[in-house]
Amino acid sequence: MSTTLKPHQRELWGQPIGLYILFLTEMWERFSYYGMRALLVLYMTASTLGTDDRGAGLGWTNQEALALYGWYTMLVYVMSIPGGMIADKLIGQKKAVLLGAIVLCLGHGVLVLTDIWAFYTGLGLVILGVGLLKPNISTMVGGLYREGDIRRDKGFSIFYIGINLGSLLATIIVGLVVAEWGWHAGFGLAGVVMLLGLVNYLAGQKYLTQVGNFEPPKADDVNEISYGKLYGKLFTSSTQLVITGLLLLVSAFGWYKLGWGYGLLFVFLTAVIALLMMIYKELNTQVYKDRFMVLLLSFIMVIVFWGAFEQAGGLMNLYTESKVDRVLFGWEIPTVMFQSLNAGFIIIFATLVASVWAKRKLKGKEGSSIFKMAVGIIIMGFGFLFMVFAAMEFERSGTSSMIWLVLAYLFHTIGELCLSPVALSFITKLTPVKYASLMMGVYFAATGLGSKVAGIVGEAASDFGEYTIFLGILIFTVIIGTLFIMLLKPLKRLTHGAEDNEREMHINETEGFELADADLNN
Ligand code: GLN
Repeated sequence: MSTTLKPHQRELWGQPIGLYILFLTEMWERFSYYGMRALLVLYMTASTLGTDDRGAGLGWTNQEALALYGWYTMLVYVMSIPGGMIADKLIGQKKAVLLGAIVLCLGHGVLVLTDIWAFYTGLGLVILGVGLLKPNISTMVGGLYREGDIRRDKGFSIFYIGINLGSLLATIIVGLVVAEWGWHAGFGLAGVVMLLGLVNYLAGQKYLTQVGNFEPPKADDVNEISYGKLYGKLFTSSTQLVITGLLLLVSAFGWYKLGWGYGLLFVFLTAVIALLMMIYKELNTQVYKDRFMVLLLSFIMVIVFWGAFEQAGGLMNLYTESKVDRVLFGWEIPTVMFQSLNAGFIIIFATLVASVWAKRKLKGKEGSSIFKMAVGIIIMGFGFLFMVFAAMEFERSGTSSMIWLVLAYLFHTIGELCLSPVALSFITKLTPVKYASLMMGVYFAATGLGSKVAGIVGEAASDFGEYTIFLGILIFTVIIGTLFIMLLKPLKRLTHGAEDNEREMHINETEGFELADADLNN
């Protein structure tokens, strides 16, 4: 490789080196996130007496702990919306990631303390930190590629391996540390690892000079409009105002029926929907408008996907614990270990799945993101067929074989690989630069809402039984996936060729940072 290239133009294994910096930063961040998440419910429900080596827990009931866990895992992703907005409008993605990493170090650091205030403060800081870091680091990955570069999807798949390497290592190591040195050592380890992520990010800055920088709006840019002004314009747009009013009524009803937590969430979502409607109205070309619309429609798949997929940590986890024969060669595999299957499968299959799609595309076969995502939902949905078999076997014989579970997680993972990294990449292809992080934030919020839906669906199993729930998820997901495949043509038309003519590109003397609107700026 030519030595005249600047660091940020250099490549390793066919990808910009910046990708590996972001890979490692996100790997450590996910280690800390999943490591801490793995402890959370166990710590909350552990006795306050501290009768075992792990020390005192909070002594909460299962129900209390699961309620907080559900809110926490959703809020972490919902906060990606303000996190994205801050990057788009104030500091750029690169600084937002830095700030997020610092806040995360503080959050995990505070959790080392045993006081209850430290517990809540730590969780709050982690929510803010992930909100700042997660959407923005993902947008930065997209910024490494020029429009039409087919390496982008593969880049996101590699990035996705980093995510899962972090989560896999965390689930193995944090558990061991806690068993040996107690809860707060586990929380502390998450903090130390996050510090590693921060150091790694700072050290790699020279490979990221071209991406995630904040460009203040030019004073004479008539299209530059603040969020405040967009909300102001709501009052002159009758349809949007009526929709917002109706959503606020629903929120008030939700508040009254379900309590203030849901009420506030609905009000927040109403504010986001109002903003999205106003952004749509203000976008200055039909191409932008159409692309924005197709992206929002694709988020329906995102919510459905995560609503089903996230049964892994809830219903499928409980099912594994109580109804699956986990004995292998005389040893009973601990339930939590099944949670590592997903990350393990991702590491094994991520590049394979990405290559299969890329090859198809180069041969001229269908390989659009919408198609991949729809296929992903269907494959994941078929994973539930194995859970249906498991439930049938249990009805028959009082136990079910773990092979069903392994197959279910395998299908779930292949489905995830068709949808999740693809969706991240798709967002960076379709959104105008000035809203890129916000839309990434909305994507993560959709995944967070999906997880909340998953919790609600999972709870319904106690009324309807697992068999019905697994079968219901299978049918519903296959229907939604098929529907999107049937609508593929019109949806693709709305992307205005954002994914046509993709080919392998490499960074040359030109600067690399361009997102979806490189050629549409006027
Ligand atoms: N497991 C992936 C991650 O941690 C995806 C999570 C999500 O999109 N909600 O990044």
